[in-house]
Amino acid sequence: MRIGFKYTARITVSVTVVAITLLFAINACQVFTPKWDLVIINGQIIDGTGNPPYGADVAIKSDKIVKIGKLESERSRKIIDANGLYVVPGFIDVHTHVDRMIDTQPVVMNYLLQGVTTVVGGNCGGSQHPLGELFNKLEGEGTGINFASLIGHNTVRRQVMGSDDRAPSAEELSQMQELVKQDVLAGGIGFSTGLAYVPGRYSTTEEIIELVKMIQPFDGVYATHMRNQGEHIQEAIEESIRIGREAGVRVQIAHIKLATEDVWGEYGLITGPIDEAHDEGMEVYLDQYPYTATSSGFTSSFPGWAVAGGHDAFVERLADPEKYQAIKAALIEKRLTSERGIDKLQAIYVAKDTAHAEYEGKNLAEILDLLGREKTISNGADLIIEMQKKSQPRGIFFQMDEKDVETIMQEPYNMIGSDGKIEIPGVEVPHPRAYGTFPRVLGRYARDLGTLSLPDAIRKMTSLPAQAMRFNERGVLKTGKSADIVIFNFTEIQDMATFEKPHQYAKGIHWVIVNGQVAAEKGEWTGVLPGKVLHGSAAR
Ligand SMILES: [Zn+2]
Repeated sequence: MRIGFKYTARITVSVTVVAITLLFAINACQVFTPKWDLVIINGQIIDGTGNPPYGADVAIKSDKIVKIGKLESERSRKIIDANGLYVVPGFIDVHTHVDRMIDTQPVVMNYLLQGVTTVVGGNCGGSQHPLGELFNKLEGEGTGINFASLIGHNTVRRQVMGSDDRAPSAEELSQMQELVKQDVLAGGIGFSTGLAYVPGRYSTTEEIIELVKMIQPFDGVYATHMRNQGEHIQEAIEESIRIGREAGVRVQIAHIKLATEDVWGEYGLITGPIDEAHDEGMEVYLDQYPYTATSSGFTSSFPGWAVAGGHDAFVERLADPEKYQAIKAALIEKRLTSERGIDKLQAIYVAKDTAHAEYEGKNLAEILDLLGREKTISNGADLIIEMQKKSQPRGIFFQMDEKDVETIMQEPYNMIGSDGKIEIPGVEVPHPRAYGTFPRVLGRYARDLGTLSLPDAIRKMTSLPAQAMRFNERGVLKTGKSADIVIFNFTEIQDMATFEKPHQYAKGIHWVIVNGQVAAEKGEWTGVLPGKVLHGSAAR
């Protein structure tokens, strides 16, 4: 019995030990198992809708915002202390050209580090085709931020009709429609035009309407780089609205500006037709970058007939002295004449020239100096033609008025969009917008100039673009939304990229969170690729 007693006692002791251990374990579970993956404490939240800031903590689980309020942060795996900082939805850039390089530069660094968590590519009529292939690659390999794409008119038209300056046949139109349909089914979120470019400039309004109709059943957006942003801007806006109305879709007018001196100050040319469209119940949006210079290939500085049929045809025309003079005269009229006495030779810079790297970052006056030529308008025109013939360079053109930039920025339906591309530090002397757009709006226009209130500036970067693009899970900092978040210091925030030295990341962005993961911390990428491809409704 003794042995039995001992044995029983031992069992009792063992059971007690196990029970106590279990109790501790259960307690430990309750106390120490993280309830959340990330909690941001002590920050001032701006929710993106235009509401004023308020103090609260934000809890994230997996890729979603799950709770906002006063939280027990010790129950989170990771804590970010945002004391003295603003916590806002990740910025959405509706107007980029990142699609050109995202397959080889998937971090999209120059956007991530300015707080952009979603970019839309495929703008101004140029996109990747087929989109399905690109999306598969990006989903397989990962991206630093979220990516969506429009379907580019020029891309589609070039495949079917080359650079021809004519209307399509019925057969060609239906081939183009078929290509648009393929890409919309693959997840394209809308259709874009670049009507100042080849071959888009050769198309009629009717052609575009027939193509835009292909995205209508899928709630796509029509995004347009219009035919004209200068003296014919009102007609161009009316054309954009007509396309939206007749195809039954909403309209986004890209990189809005009063781009020539003769229309500076004439805001009514933009807002008149848009206010009317809004009155009839249409959705019409604008986007804008916060600079007084544009950037594009020099090709768009030439008259349409001069560049029709591709580069060889252009070079051939130059050999005919009469045509050369006509091209030169048109170029002088469009690019080198100023009604206000502005020295245009100093207002046009070369951003990229594969034949003459030494021209990059210099204006036409400086290049003429370099070549030992007299700084005349005539020599400037000859220089542009010479460069175009050799290497089709890219330029930066100072052509807007700062006051207009501010006034247009205040339009409530105007979003912030960079019109930039992926940049590699040290390569070319590109427009600084690709590095600085969003911090510049916050630092210069919201803080220093007071052009916008901070909540309004944030709204133009978050909920407004989310609404225009139908990114229904993003753009607002609320429970249940995707956890795309930027944490920044409003006193510090500053774009550092300048026209002289564009390859510089902004200051003041402390953390960037993409789909719940910290993708950038203190101005550096953390090494993760949490971005998603955001598909249009046809592929969702
Ligand atoms: Zn454009």
